[in-house]
Amino acid sequence: MRNREDIEKSEEERLAPWASRSRLSLGRLYPEPEHEYRTAYQRDRDRVLHATAFRRLQYKTQVFIYHEGDHFRNRLTHTLEVAQVARTVARVLGLNEDLTEAIVLAHDLGHPPFGHLGQTEMHTLLGEFGGFEHNRQSLRIVDLLERPSTQYVGLNLTMETRSGILKHGSAFPRYPHPVPFPEMGTSPSAEAQLANLADEIAYNSHDVDDGLRSGLIEHEALMEVPIWREVCTKVQRDWGTTATDGNAFRRRAVGLLINELSSDLIRNADERLSSAGIASAQQVRESKDHVIAFSSDMQQAKAELAAFLRANLYLHPQVLQIATEAGRVLSDLWNLYRDQPELLSAAAREGLAGEPNERALADYLAGMTDRFAMDEHRRLIGTPPADS
Ligand code: MG
Repeated sequence: MRNREDIEKSEEERLAPWASRSRLSLGRLYPEPEHEYRTAYQRDRDRVLHATAFRRLQYKTQVFIYHEGDHFRNRLTHTLEVAQVARTVARVLGLNEDLTEAIVLAHDLGHPPFGHLGQTEMHTLLGEFGGFEHNRQSLRIVDLLERPSTQYVGLNLTMETRSGILKHGSAFPRYPHPVPFPEMGTSPSAEAQLANLADEIAYNSHDVDDGLRSGLIEHEALMEVPIWREVCTKVQRDWGTTATDGNAFRRRAVGLLINELSSDLIRNADERLSSAGIASAQQVRESKDHVIAFSSDMQQAKAELAAFLRANLYLHPQVLQIATEAGRVLSDLWNLYRDQPELLSAAAREGLAGEPNERALADYLAGMTDRFAMDEHRRLIGTPPADS
């Protein structure tokens, strides 16, 4: 049997010099004794997986509202796909898989209902209170809103997982985060950088899959995107299957797309790590440039695919129409609760000392699943929401 110290020692042998080591974690806000056989990052991952907010991901939209079909991605299946890509790449690059997985499983917890347009609506509603940002909200959830313990507030995760959830791009929002955060360097850890790019690999690929399957994207139109054309040519050549074969062809091509993106990321990151002579996790954080990155050719190819998805899927009239309805559900509920706070539970009303009540209301609305928001709208306002 191996205890935690054995596993920490085995990290020394398994991990690359640039990986985060659980033994060197900056620790938690509320000090706790270490676990007998789980490392600090394994515990973080387990805490996120058991969080209430994690289970709600199942009923939150990625692109398609939950009732549009049982086969489309929701935020839970999206998160699991990101975790799978990220763990594969982490293992190849010698990164800390447990830390990578903890960050990935938590990365979308802060998303409000109804996908990207739900976030836009929340940002508008919170305009005079500093806006709304989903990475920031994920951090609020793990630091403040989850309450699994009587000993502390939040999940009491390590600084490395918290920092990975926040992402540096959102480190300077217009509203403060009322939980201390240590200075951790210019760049995110290699594990956090990977989590972010694995997210891109997963959503670009599965949105192609769901877009084609739903019929909102036409295969012929998508063939104008070079990277898709390339993977289709390879699938035809290597498996002798064509687009007329439907499902099987699409799945092969999407699988190959994930593989091409992941392989490019691995090759390019490996090159960057060695040419920059990175010898520690600290050096990754001090480095001005990110070490985990796609090649510039792949960056370009990915941008073309993303632009296609935006124009043809995210802004598809059918998606937009549902999003408009969903935005109305959120703004109606916001206005109603602001006028009649007695409709909220005591816990939702309480909020946090020193913060405007609107932030507590935002926590409540953002925490809703698509289904709960529509049910509440129907119950309290009564006009038919999106699904009627
Ligand atoms: Mg995501």
